[in-house]
Amino acid sequence: MSKLNTKVTDSVNFFQGNDPKKLVEEYGSPLYVYNERILRERCREIKNLVSYPHFSVNYSTKANNNLAFLQIVREEGLNVDAMSPGEAHVEFMAGFKPEQIFFISNNVSKEEMQYAIDHDITLSVDSLSQLEQYGQLNPGGRVAARFNGGVGAGHHEKVVTAGKKTKFAINPEYIPEFKEILKKYDLKLVGINQHIGSLFMEGDKYIEGVKAILNIAKEFDDLEFVDLGGGFGIPYEKLNDQPRLDLKDLGEKLSKILFDFAKEYGKELTFKVEPGRYISAECSVLLGTVHAVKQNNVHKFAGTDLGFNVLARPMMYDSHHDIEVYNNSDDTEEITVVGNICESGDIIAHDRVLPKVAEGDVIGVLDAGAYGYSMASNYNNRLRPAEILIRENGEVVLTRKRDTFEDLTRNFIPLK
Ligand SMILES: *Cc1c(COP(=O)(O)O)cnc(C)c1O
Repeated sequence: MSKLNTKVTDSVNFFQGNDPKKLVEEYGSPLYVYNERILRERCREIKNLVSYPHFSVNYSTKANNNLAFLQIVREEGLNVDAMSPGEAHVEFMAGFKPEQIFFISNNVSKEEMQYAIDHDITLSVDSLSQLEQYGQLNPGGRVAARFNGGVGAGHHEKVVTAGKKTKFAINPEYIPEFKEILKKYDLKLVGINQHIGSLFMEGDKYIEGVKAILNIAKEFDDLEFVDLGGGFGIPYEKLNDQPRLDLKDLGEKLSKILFDFAKEYGKELTFKVEPGRYISAECSVLLGTVHAVKQNNVHKFAGTDLGFNVLARPMMYDSHHDIEVYNNSDDTEEITVVGNICESGDIIAHDRVLPKVAEGDVIGVLDAGAYGYSMASNYNNRLRPAEILIRENGEVVLTRKRDTFEDLTRNFIPLK
């Protein structure tokens, strides 16, 4: 039975014999640590989600765009989504081919659309005005479109991306106008997609969303694919024994729906899913260092180098991340873990019962691989951390260098 200090990482052999304190000594603090074996396991779980044969898993790169990470995702046979030409650019660097990339656009410029057209990447538009723009740029071309099936879900209102209140997608009531624009520019609609939101833990909401998008699919003849969206949740509260999403149950229900739909539609079209978080969250621990411990009125604080410039989720979405403390303390205490950014909201964890911490201790923020580094910034002119990867044999490699002062200032043009 391992101690609270390392309970979760021990249970999955996260560090594979590497000492977190030594990693910080060698690569600096803060530090994003990834585990290759866990990443590959997550890829395989989703690849095997359904028994329907024409199935594509498009990893949503916005959750984590590290190049080495994408190389592993590609080796595992996944395809990718891109939200911007910048993401597609890194995907090309990782070896993905144009036909493996699906550009899901939202309010993009003509230049960004042209990038997709020039690089033979299938693009999904999400409004009638963007379909017009696409038609003008690429008459006779192939295009996909994002529809709002009316079902939304997610862990926070900021990440619910379908339903009544969202900026995303085209409402089905506009399908007649949509078809007219297709005709006007002789466009071929190759697929439709949706994304109901992020971090569902019960499969039923997803299934409801799938049924809604399949109903919309029936409005169009000869689609090549239907993309059912991402949003597969992971248990962030492992110390509280939060259960995992039941992928087996979800997969079985989904398989039946997909087989039935293909039969009814009269064509073995391809179904895609586009998970970001499920693939990337759990293979990473963010390490940081405690620089101060103090009692301020009712709260005891651990002051760390883990500001919201390094991990934005707790500040942005009130997200919970479990914390481990890599010291030998057997005593616990209630403590609030904060960062080093000059804002009161810079809090990683409120009032947690943790092993007693002291200055110099290394702590780990668990499940940090999704929307962690990819949302990190240089706010307060701080340096974004390095990223390292623990290979399957336990060897550690650096996959992204820590920023330097030079990185902070390279784009400045001083006044003469
Ligand atoms: C962000 C996003 C995803 C991935 O969401 P996760 O919750 O990380 O799985 C999938 N599709 C679209 C369109 C997105 O914007």
